[in-house]
Amino acid sequence: MTDTQDPIIKFSDVTKRFGDLVVLDHFDFEVNLGEKVALIGPSGSGKSTVLRILMTLETIQEGQIELDGIPYREPGGHGPFHASAKHLHNIRSRVGMVFQGFNLFPHMSVLRNITEAPVVVLGLSKREAKERAMQLLEMVGLADKADAFPTQLSGGQKQRVAIARALAMRPRVMLFDEPTSALDPELVGEVQEVIRGLAHEHDLTMLLVTHEMRFAREIADRVCFFDKGRIVEQGPPAEVMVNPQEERTQNFLAPYL
Ligand code: ADP
Ligand code: MG
Repeated sequence: MTDTQDPIIKFSDVTKRFGDLVVLDHFDFEVNLGEKVALIGPSGSGKSTVLRILMTLETIQEGQIELDGIPYREPGGHGPFHASAKHLHNIRSRVGMVFQGFNLFPHMSVLRNITEAPVVVLGLSKREAKERAMQLLEMVGLADKADAFPTQLSGGQKQRVAIARALAMRPRVMLFDEPTSALDPELVGEVQEVIRGLAHEHDLTMLLVTHEMRFAREIADRVCFFDKGRIVEQGPPAEVMVNPQEERTQNFLAPYL
């Protein structure tokens, strides 16, 4: 569907408000297929909102968004998203998201957490879904935890399961919103290791909101510095993070440099 020249994600002149608060201000943003983009910047600058909009968890007031060539708003669409449920479902099926918290289903085993949506939403057979889940558990180093329940896992293990669960839907785009910031420091590395592995996947587009500057620098092709609902500076990490041009970026990065 998508020409490889076209961006897989495109925000065009998007304005997002909560009441009087303008969170994204005539926001333009494009991401190419397979690109790994780190979103950094102060708290409240709109980073999570960008991811939540992409996941269709938030509506927008103005502008247009496209993912994989599909406009979020349908011509003649209605409801808060100006789109039908079927249309939103089509968009969501292309996006996986991992949040700061561990959003596993507590009453389901690790395996079932991963197989549930592929069976119910994609219509995979239980056997196919289990095969896919076991491959992913292998990949995140948790094959031996398939029958465990979330309460029996550490925070780092839960987050690795959450990543496997998102990947089981074979998304085109993976969104990570501070995936390690709720973890005890000694558990950060194991989750970063899994994300680092994914960053090597050529066709997977990744957006990562993080305060871990070293990690952002390591995995991102491009770093976008957010301030007050706009990207004020962006470029390869070796430029933006080493030699920032904007004063706001310099001030933000100063403690890390
Ligand atoms: P970041 O992820 O960069 O810290 P967010 O995207 O979460 O920032 O938030 C941007 C702004 O939007 C903040 O001022 C925040 O308080 C506000 N905001 C986020 N979600 C809501 C909401 N559901 N209702 C009202 N204001 C919100
Ligand atoms: Mg946030």
